[in-house]
Amino acid sequence: MKSFDWKRIWKSGGLVCLTALLLLAAVPRAEASGVREIPLGYNDELTGIKAEMKDGALYVPLRETSNKIHLAVSGTNEKIVLTGSKHRITIVPGAQEAISGGQTAPLKTYVSAGRTMIPASLLKSAFHFGVAYDAGVPVVRITSGKQKLSLQDFVLQNRGTEDGGRGKTEDKPQQQKPVPTKPIYLTFDDGPTAHTGELLDILDKYGARGTFFMLGPNIASYPNAVKRLVQSGNAAGLHGMTHVKSKFYASPASALKEMEQDNAALRSAAGIDTTLIRTPYGSKPYFTEAYRNKMMSAGFHLWDWNVDSEDWKYKTDHNKVIRSVLQQIETVEKQGTVPIVLMHDQPATLKVLPEVLKTLKAEGFTFEVIDGQTTPVNFWHDKR
Ligand SMILES: [Zn+2]
Repeated sequence: MKSFDWKRIWKSGGLVCLTALLLLAAVPRAEASGVREIPLGYNDELTGIKAEMKDGALYVPLRETSNKIHLAVSGTNEKIVLTGSKHRITIVPGAQEAISGGQTAPLKTYVSAGRTMIPASLLKSAFHFGVAYDAGVPVVRITSGKQKLSLQDFVLQNRGTEDGGRGKTEDKPQQQKPVPTKPIYLTFDDGPTAHTGELLDILDKYGARGTFFMLGPNIASYPNAVKRLVQSGNAAGLHGMTHVKSKFYASPASALKEMEQDNAALRSAAGIDTTLIRTPYGSKPYFTEAYRNKMMSAGFHLWDWNVDSEDWKYKTDHNKVIRSVLQQIETVEKQGTVPIVLMHDQPATLKVLPEVLKTLKAEGFTFEVIDGQTTPVNFWHDKR
């Protein structure tokens, strides 16, 4: 398959070439009227994301898909910026345009069930992903080059899961209906403390789990809390030794040293290491490239948050924290982003947690923990 260079497309007259690109991804217009939902695959995985066939072209939900294929989404709903490892484009839904390298070209987008839909072909032309479509299943598959299965095997494999492994049936394969999940990451900083046990009790009660970014000296003080936390399916992360700005951020070497000492404390308390780090007060503005290079080349993954409970600030107004955190989670979730909630391992948080967990559970969220394979989310968009 010929590959297309986005910049060349802009230069050679956006409209004509973009139309040609859209036609590449198009299929016969058997269902020209209306919209048809199509399961989306990424490499060898069938995601729960639904693409749509509209007017003979394939569209994917911008935010869910970007999250899946590791494109960063920033900007506003009026000007959505999509950033890949080498390229960046700005999508302006109101004007039905996209801007890249100072050039503007028409881009058809629309909103479906609150999701901004973009042509799947854009991922190919702008970011060099593969986009393939099998009308027989049907399924659309985006590839980054890391896929192991051919399209045919990918289709066969997913047909296999649909009939429960009983082999081929006479019936036409049914569309797979993945169980919808709404993942959320709860994170707890600054522990462990004398109250970690109570915190873990509350998490257990609601079937929830979290990721704990812990300070080395506290780990040494409460090793049993760390053991319990790890054994009960929560995740351990590092938060350094001093929590003092001038000491932690003194140099890239000082930051690395604190995390390594913290990891040593974790090792002696619970017998494990971790690559997950959260720097004191968050990574902006101090954790600049030199710091990140130092830390990432030692194998660490940097995590910030997108929901700040401010539980450290409002230690008595529990309702304010509950309202604010639930509201922020709803906003982030509506944007198609997985919420990463910053909370603290402290007594005040014990007061807000039951209500927050009860509500999130009722809303269908599943509490996940971060691991070294999860694509890092941080204020620098540094995915190493
Ligand atoms: Zn902290």
